Amino acid sequence: MKVGIVGAGAVGSTAAYALVLQGTASDIVLVDLNTKLAEAQAQDIQHATPFAWSSRVRAGGYADLDGSQVVVLAAGAAQRPGDSRLDLLERNAAVFRQIVPAVLDNAPDAVLLVASNPVDVVTDIVARLSGLPAGRVFGSGTILDSARFRALLAEHLGISPTSVHAYVLGEHGDSEVLWWSGATAGGIPVAEVAAQLGRPLDDAARATIDESVRRAAYRIIDGKGATWFGIGAGLSRIIRAINKDERLLLSVSALTPEIEGIADVTLSLPRIVGAGGVLETLNPAFSDEERGALRRSALVLREAADSVKL
Ligand code: ADP
Repeated sequence: MKVGIVGAGAVGSTAAYALVLQGTASDIVLVDLNTKLAEAQAQDIQHATPFAWSSRVRAGGYADLDGSQVVVLAAGAAQRPGDSRLDLLERNAAVFRQIVPAVLDNAPDAVLLVASNPVDVVTDIVARLSGLPAGRVFGSGTILDSARFRALLAEHLGISPTSVHAYVLGEHGDSEVLWWSGATAGGIPVAEVAAQLGRPLDDAARATIDESVRRAAYRIIDGKGATWFGIGAGLSRIIRAINKDERLLLSVSALTPEIEGIADVTLSLPRIVGAGGVLETLNPAFSDEERGALRRSALVLREAADSVKL
């Protein structure tokens, strides 16, 4: 599988590294405005291939994206300490006005996978700029938030995270919604599992998990300036689902015709990912409180997207 990555900074290069370690891509092209950086990252990652899987990793220009099955869009400004993701919006919108036409000219059949923040709004911009059919453009959205939610629930319950199904939906950011009423383990609602195991999920436990999921990125940025390992691995996981046509259920961000009365908004919902990108979207059954929270999240994103002139 050939994968193009535009933006060879922390996130783009870590995605490439994860692809190599997992043996998902046989050909990886890194494109960056900073060509020296792209060259250096490509060489460094290429040197990992003898310890992992055989892959060709190189730096290139947009013409080298030709034939890519997936192009990851990881270019743009990094989130600074104290920045909300929406602060990045204006800076990144300008970058994508240049990048999207260049990618489409050279890789017209690729799935576009957006990683740049604020990921929902950038995905919305890329979807609108590209004019590609729904499903061919989507963002990493809340995959990491959902992973963290699962991990924390699993820890609380004392069971494997692979046995917990739970999703964070809406914005990848401050207004995100932990879908508590849909969280299950062994097909049983987590509150019931918790009661049976004598590890109740009371209000305090829920508040701790909620805070920990919602503030995770801020804490990491505070400690190391940005986040890259989690998202790099997550992007590689998404690309594997596309490559193997896994029809994997993931909370990823895509343009949604209608959610809670808001039209044409780009946010995360549980979606089926396989060859071709997002194949289907599921419609969760929410509690009244979750419904209101998701509507508020959708409104935040709709407003942010509307503020960007294309
Ligand atoms: P992150 O932590 O999100 O990866 P970085 O700042 O490390 O952020 O990486 C972003 C990369 O995007 C940088 O290497 C930068 O050179 C690149 N970039 C910025 N604008 C463009 C552009 N118009 N085209 C290609 N690459 C770009």
